[in-house]
Amino acid sequence: MAAPDIGTSEALETLNRVFGYDSFRGEQHAIVEHVIAGGDALVLMPTGGGKSLCYQIPALVRPGVGVVVSPLIALMQDQVDALRNLGVRAGFLNSTQDYAERNRVEAAFLSGELDLLYLAPERLSVESTVRLLDRGKISLFAIDEAHCVSQWGHDFRPDYLMLSAVHERWPDVPRIALTATATKATHAEIASRLNLENARHFVASFDRPNIQYRIVGKNSPQRQLLELLRTEHQGDAGIVYCLSRNSVEKTADFLVENGIPAVPYHAGLDARTRAEHQSRFLREDGLIVVATIAFGMGIDKPDVRFVAHLDLPKSIEGYYQETGRAGRDGLPSTAWLAYGLQDVVQQRKMIDMSEGSEAYKRQLSAHLNAMLALCETVECRRVQVLSYFGQRSEPCGNCDTCLAPPETWDGTIPAQKLLSTIVRLQNERRQKFGAGQIIDILLGKSTPKVTQHRHDSLKVFGIGTELKEPEWRAVVRQLLAQGLAAVEGDYGSLVLTEGSAEVLNGQRKVQLRREPERAAKAAARSGAKKAAAADMPAEAAPVFELLRSWRAAAAKEQGVPAYVIFHDATLRQIATKRPATLQELSTVSGVGENKLAKYGEQILETLSAEN
Ligand code: ADP
Ligand code: ZN
Repeated sequence: MAAPDIGTSEALETLNRVFGYDSFRGEQHAIVEHVIAGGDALVLMPTGGGKSLCYQIPALVRPGVGVVVSPLIALMQDQVDALRNLGVRAGFLNSTQDYAERNRVEAAFLSGELDLLYLAPERLSVESTVRLLDRGKISLFAIDEAHCVSQWGHDFRPDYLMLSAVHERWPDVPRIALTATATKATHAEIASRLNLENARHFVASFDRPNIQYRIVGKNSPQRQLLELLRTEHQGDAGIVYCLSRNSVEKTADFLVENGIPAVPYHAGLDARTRAEHQSRFLREDGLIVVATIAFGMGIDKPDVRFVAHLDLPKSIEGYYQETGRAGRDGLPSTAWLAYGLQDVVQQRKMIDMSEGSEAYKRQLSAHLNAMLALCETVECRRVQVLSYFGQRSEPCGNCDTCLAPPETWDGTIPAQKLLSTIVRLQNERRQKFGAGQIIDILLGKSTPKVTQHRHDSLKVFGIGTELKEPEWRAVVRQLLAQGLAAVEGDYGSLVLTEGSAEVLNGQRKVQLRREPERAAKAAARSGAKKAAAADMPAEAAPVFELLRSWRAAAAKEQGVPAYVIFHDATLRQIATKRPATLQELSTVSGVGENKLAKYGEQILETLSAEN
């Protein structure tokens, strides 16, 4: 194999030889060198940013075994298989193993035959595991998904709290904690709970430039989803998130009825079914998982082409983690969210009814408000998300608001009409109603509910016919997002806020956003096409397909996901370059020493069969 000019660094040499990559990305190099030198590190990097290499390379370079603590028991086998395909000696210990298997792994650990050992966190509170680790040589501790130590987050794992003891027990072993959660609060909590205040903190850019962010008004979510899949993501793998188990099941059924392969995933399914659906998602091409947020942590399938949300996520943090599961391979991908007034009403209700303290409820409200502001922004979505994480950036050119800037219009008068309807109901009649009834009043609709309550005798009845119903709903959504109205109670009643008065007495203007629906779609589509075309010349496509079928057969034979053999991006490069020799093949990104030896001849044969 040609030795590229990479200087003397052992880390770079390992990156090139084992993983087949030319260079480190972003902060990877600094992190890796810091840990190799024995330093502690806390790493914040977005999903798909390349966290794994940050501990895998130091584990290979430093003497001893790298111990990786991970909550992702169901994924350990795949992770270990992927490493073995790279020629890395890896094993795991968790509750899924029988005694004999565990013994084999323990023996390999003790005799120094492992580079990496994956451990479920609860293992570390078992005394026998601690004694085992004492008898071997440990090169580092990697604490993956470190945000699981955060008690506020929905991924909290009590066993993670025990991990602060690792440092006391093995003070000389460097620790590296990694997470894709970026907010300052979580960052600080991880540092204090894991005793990493004195570690070096690496905060990478959280931008994911290959993901196109789009947020649309929700009217008929399943139909809208179907349209997205048919026009832009035919045959692609993706994740669809829904809030409830019920809507997960219904949406999955709906997709299957429409000829699109999809499986459900939520905490109400038994463990076997969940594991089976997850495994199918990882192994099959073009399968869609419809899921609650219970799905996805640690799923490192690189070719997830879209993440769609049919309900509003509870926070920007959650939204960004979930959408981040798209496009880890760096190829163009879509993050699509459909959101409507009902989402706001429902989530407010959930917050009001939640059992936490007032402080906790305020925190949930703040999260929801930030999410609403993102949905209703007329600025670049990416700029807004990154600034939420404290990072500055320029308008991206790859989100819906950049591609088709929404117009703003002066909505002061409609806002006043809507708010004064709320005032009249409240003052004259001591009544509160939800958005639906208020909009019916404004539109002058004599529905049974309107006549029953005699709302047709109100002065405001029929004063809002200049807007259509969906436009009124958009007005309500935006007033909520701007804090100029609020919803409360079981029925989602609209009520006034402090800001409402300023609008009503004319002290404050209200700027509203108008959806440029057609334009956004067209622009988005042409953008996606361009990116895909730049990625691989047309004549390479049939070769790529041949390589894909070779890969599918190889993956099946080994019982591993296809991407464990090679990523799409690697196969695309091979299809484009058409290397004639092993030496040429070795220069393709993602082809390391072990994979070259293992699959090189087969690839060359596949290529020559095509000629
Ligand atoms: P994370 O754990 O941060 O979500 P991964 O470690 O799974 O991300 O890396 C994401 C993808 O990027 C993987 O497919 C990985 O092989 C690839 N990758 C990581 N670092 C590099 C690099 N320096 N050069 C090329 N590809 C890389
Ligand atoms: Zn943008």
